[in-house]
Amino acid sequence: METKRVIIRDAAHPKEEELREAAQILQQGGLVAFPTETVYGLGGNALDETAAKRIYAAKGRPSDNPLIAHISSMEELLPLVSRIPEAGRRLAERFWPGPLTMIFPKSEQVPFSTTGGLDTVAVRMPSDPVAMKLIRMAGVPVAAPSANTSGRPSPTTADHVWEDLNGKIEMIVDGGAVGIGVESTIVDVTGPVPVILRPGFITLEMLQEMFDQVKIDPAILGPMADGVRPKAPGMKYKHYAPLGQLTLVELKEETKKALHTPGSSQWQEVEEAAQKRGISLEHADLESIYMALQTDKLAAEKEKQGAKTGVICTEETEKFYETKLKGRIGQRAQADTVAHNLYRVLRDFDDLQVEYIYSESFAGDHLGQAIMNRLNKAAGYHIIYV
Ligand code: AMP
Ligand code: MG
Repeated sequence: METKRVIIRDAAHPKEEELREAAQILQQGGLVAFPTETVYGLGGNALDETAAKRIYAAKGRPSDNPLIAHISSMEELLPLVSRIPEAGRRLAERFWPGPLTMIFPKSEQVPFSTTGGLDTVAVRMPSDPVAMKLIRMAGVPVAAPSANTSGRPSPTTADHVWEDLNGKIEMIVDGGAVGIGVESTIVDVTGPVPVILRPGFITLEMLQEMFDQVKIDPAILGPMADGVRPKAPGMKYKHYAPLGQLTLVELKEETKKALHTPGSSQWQEVEEAAQKRGISLEHADLESIYMALQTDKLAAEKEKQGAKTGVICTEETEKFYETKLKGRIGQRAQADTVAHNLYRVLRDFDDLQVEYIYSESFAGDHLGQAIMNRLNKAAGYHIIYV
């Protein structure tokens, strides 16, 4: 199949004629990849069993992993669900359109091929103007999982989609690079207390401001014990992974303490590294510099063994690395820049066929919870404590 590519000239104001053919393809059961504010989605009619099956086939995705139905207005929610719980109503008012997916009890209209056999349905109203307009013009709810080959890092540009799905789908709508860069937050609102099934740009802290109680599915906090099932079936798969082996570098509590103790060996190591490079430590975060120095050493050891090795660094720590292959993931002090670049950095390493990647880790609160969830999964929870 030949995959057409349509370029949207002004992605903030897409024109109807630019999306007409894409909308027709969706109406006729075809597949169209398009940008959303989180990552690129692979769209198909969520009410059409054949379209849903084609999505699974194009992605190579296991069919027990349900799809998210994307809508463009509240009226479009009603036919998909059997009821709207109070928490769902409040969250929709606050965060839709936006990077939040909610799990509702499904109506009979939604086929089990879309929900992976579950009697609940995941729904999101994206805010991206291209996504919004396309869904509205298609006139059907659009199932749109990330537009990547299952298991690979999610696509944040149309080129990423092209790499994975060229020849497998009818069209790619190119609206430029996405804004957020990690998938939507998923919240289950079917029970008495909202439960976060996947962390994202809408954070635990934001939900805690709205509800007395918010739960987190244990499957997103760490590696799953045998026999534990995540409530979002997709969270059980190795995900978001680069081709090389990714290892995260994390500080021990005792190391953090030592870094705040002038004269300790760790403190001295940072001092010497800064002096050697002529860098002032006046406003510097010693913890991240120490983490960078250890990440660099681990990469150097692998390089010595002849393996192609890269590091993931931040703007703040970049100058402390000797390793040549550096993936700049953003500014540590601005978690949204880290989320934005995360998948691109992993894909860039794939393009270079890097065999080993060492990455600094990040604080796990606010947006950092989503960042660390994706990095941990990409690393298969391979962490070295220094
Ligand atoms: P993606 O489409 O790639 O963003 O992945 C969709 C995620 O939503 C997967 O992790 C699914 O397991 C999850 N999901 C979709 N529908 C449901 C549902 N009804 N209940 C729980 N999780 C769901
Ligand atoms: Mg995905």
